Amino acid sequence: MSDSGYDLRSLTGKLSQVVGEGNVLLDEPMSKHTTFKIGGPADVFVIPEDTGELESVLEIVRSAHQSFFVLGCGSDLLVSDEGYRGAVIDLADGLLSVGYDGHCMTCQAGVPLKEASEMACELGLEGLEFACGIPGSVGGACFMNAGAYGGCMADVLESVRTINSAGVLQTIAVADLDLGYRTSRVRKENLIVVEATFRLHRGVSEDIRARMDELTVRREQKQPLELPSAGSTFKRPKGFYAGKLITDAGLQGYQVGGAAVSMKHAGFVVNLRGATSADVHAVIRHVQDEVFRQFGVHLEPEVRFLP
Ligand SMILES: Cc1cc2nc3c(=O)[nH]c(=O)nc-3n(C[C@H](O)[C@H](O)[C@H](O)COP(=O)(O)OP(=O)(O)OC[C@H]3O[C@@H](n4cnc5c(N)ncnc54)[C@H](O)[C@@H]3O)c2cc1C
Repeated sequence: MSDSGYDLRSLTGKLSQVVGEGNVLLDEPMSKHTTFKIGGPADVFVIPEDTGELESVLEIVRSAHQSFFVLGCGSDLLVSDEGYRGAVIDLADGLLSVGYDGHCMTCQAGVPLKEASEMACELGLEGLEFACGIPGSVGGACFMNAGAYGGCMADVLESVRTINSAGVLQTIAVADLDLGYRTSRVRKENLIVVEATFRLHRGVSEDIRARMDELTVRREQKQPLELPSAGSTFKRPKGFYAGKLITDAGLQGYQVGGAAVSMKHAGFVVNLRGATSADVHAVIRHVQDEVFRQFGVHLEPEVRFLP
């Protein structure tokens, strides 16, 4: 029995029957699955390879009354040093197929956004250029309504196929997805994205490539991509820019343990070397306190905390 009182052997046995032994890992360090390179072990880490397997995994986890967490590329996550008690269901290593039909491209949830935008470019389909440097999965991007450089998922999605906690599959049109700034119905209703269909425009591959290259250069110049992070640590507060407030508060370079406010872009907390989740939390708290004290603005984290 685990600390949380359930029979791990029985759970992993059932999961292995569905996804194969190699796709069920025990005590898997989450630091291996997050762009922050931080996070303790997940009790069970399971990798379904198609929608049917995902449905069965959910059914098994539900019957075992286990908590579970759906993982994409881990690029917006701060996992605690104690890790996660329950099952992490990793979609970014399994649900990876892409198809297209005319102006539409359908990607399973685990497809990296970068790959989706590369594919669209090769097909001469315009619209996904904004996403070429976002290191998340299609599923995670729908959950967050990820966006950059004036574009976001709401602009390009046609529909999303989801599964809910009771195992019911549903296709939701973009108009019903309630997409807002870093939020969505997927997030509000704890839905799991299985696949997403993008409606794009016919364009010229060379022009699309040029736009992607331009955005990549802008990103490389401004963001500390050479260090592990989870992107922008804070949401943009109404009427302000988080990075500017943090710089103006004199917090660039502020460091606790291995975590620090980036010198290149104050909106990013980076893992300089061996940072713990506790280090990052301490930096976040201090930045929030100081920015509030100096400017009266509350910075809300954009990064998701697990648990
Ligand atoms: C260097 C860097 C730059 C970044 N730049 C940007 C940017 O320009 N714009 C931007 O918006 N973000 C940016 N991000 C943040 C991040 O890449 C996005 O938020 C991305 O959409 C997260 O996707 P993910 O697959 O990594 O999700 P994860 O981090 O794995 O998960 C985030 C949340 O999404 C949920 N989730 C994941 N997959 C699914 C699914 N299939 N169904 C339901 N829920 C799911 C998880 O449960 C979790 O709650 C950046 C991050 C980094 C490290």
